[in-house]
Amino acid sequence: MRYQPIIGLEIHTQLKTQSKMFCSCASQYFGKEPNTQTCPVCLGLPGALPSINQMGVEQTVRVGLALGCTIPEESKFDRKNYFYPDLVKGYQISQYDMPLCQHGYLDVDALGKKKRIRILRAHLEEDTAKSLHEKDPVTGESYTLIDCNKSGVPLLEIVSEPDLRTMEEASAYARKIRQIVRYIDASDADMEKGQLRFDINVSIGIVEDDEVLGENDLPKQHTPIVEVKNLNSFRALEKAVDFEIKRQIEEYEQTHELYHAGNKTTRGWDDVKEVTVHQRSKEEASEYRYFPEPDLPPLHLARDYVEKLRSELPMLPEAKAKQLAECCGLKLSDAVLLVAEKEDANWFDQAATGQSQVLVGEMAKWLLGDIAFFLKENNLGVSQSKLTPEHLRELASLIQSGEISGKIAKEILPDVLEKGLSPKSVVESKGLKQVSDVGEIEKVIDAVIAENAKIVAQVQGGKPEAVMFLVGHVMKKTRGQANPPMVQEMMRKKMGL
Ligand SMILES: [Zn+2]
Repeated sequence: MRYQPIIGLEIHTQLKTQSKMFCSCASQYFGKEPNTQTCPVCLGLPGALPSINQMGVEQTVRVGLALGCTIPEESKFDRKNYFYPDLVKGYQISQYDMPLCQHGYLDVDALGKKKRIRILRAHLEEDTAKSLHEKDPVTGESYTLIDCNKSGVPLLEIVSEPDLRTMEEASAYARKIRQIVRYIDASDADMEKGQLRFDINVSIGIVEDDEVLGENDLPKQHTPIVEVKNLNSFRALEKAVDFEIKRQIEEYEQTHELYHAGNKTTRGWDDVKEVTVHQRSKEEASEYRYFPEPDLPPLHLARDYVEKLRSELPMLPEAKAKQLAECCGLKLSDAVLLVAEKEDANWFDQAATGQSQVLVGEMAKWLLGDIAFFLKENNLGVSQSKLTPEHLRELASLIQSGEISGKIAKEILPDVLEKGLSPKSVVESKGLKQVSDVGEIEKVIDAVIAENAKIVAQVQGGKPEAVMFLVGHVMKKTRGQANPPMVQEMMRKKMGL
């Protein structure tokens, strides 16, 4: 017998629209005074009528298409009824049995393995209000305030099949979803603003020795399903998955309790203690008393409309990386890094378009090396930095043409990156041009030979590899400005090698 974690993910992401899902209040609420972006509809006042925000539907369909989903012709909204302080109407407008997107997939790379994760559905709903838990400074009494600015913001829920088997797969899947919704501009998915949240479903499969399982097959028996709600960061997601796997194996070894219909529980995540805590036995779907939203018409999605949206989707990161690798002879793994964020990918496009493979290779090398290091230190994307595509191209050209060495390039980088200066101007103002003048280099070589009789004797006495010491001395004497391949060639000639 062995244990096999079974993990499913529900990802909530706020969609990028001007106004909320069912009213005309602004959907951008971050940093706004509480309850200033509300109206009778999103406050849930009696008699207020919702209307559908077309952009919300469009963004949902775009995400669905990017995830390989089927977009049914007919869809509708339903009421999900439950009582919670942050749900002002007493119900949430969501989608139950006819979601906008069904049966998609996402290929993820985790632990060096590619795996296809099936997506069950993606449906559109409205976000809830926000509870603020406060404490009276005088009496010490706790109380809760409600901010309805978030209430009614379009929210997309993407539900995976329980195909994930490790924390690494869950993390890779969640990260890739975020990358895609950002790439197609359907959501900013800014986790610090709460625009992307995860719920995980975890149980442990009990796999018998003679049980043969395909990649996405479920073991015949598994432990009760535990849902951990409202994880707000990748770190929390990863820690919570790890914690639940361990906790459930320990629990199973004591209780031997297996899943049967009904024994599901919901747990919360304590970010400080890094543990999950029991909240409640999970409500079954029937307890939400779903029924069609009577105030909204059903949705009909014309095929040509869906195909138009499909044709307008931008190239996705995977395809973009492949294209970049093919056109410019880059390693695919390098190309993947270069296009990870859409803005950075566009930035690199600007630098690379129309340039030779050699130059693009040189640009990529610096961008993924010293420049990446600088950007990481400063927590910047290249598109947010002072480096311009033109300056990167200039830097690569200077190196390629032999005007500066790699060493000089490193020396001028801080000025280029921090002050936004052009590499050419820094080279000129600091007098750092690489010396490629044969006469000048020869003078230095002769001096070095004269000063290092001992090494010269070694080279000529059967230790040709010692010539590199002499080359090193020349580079030092020229403060790294001599053209290294030239120095090497000339020195070898002088030594008769
Ligand atoms: Zn409103």
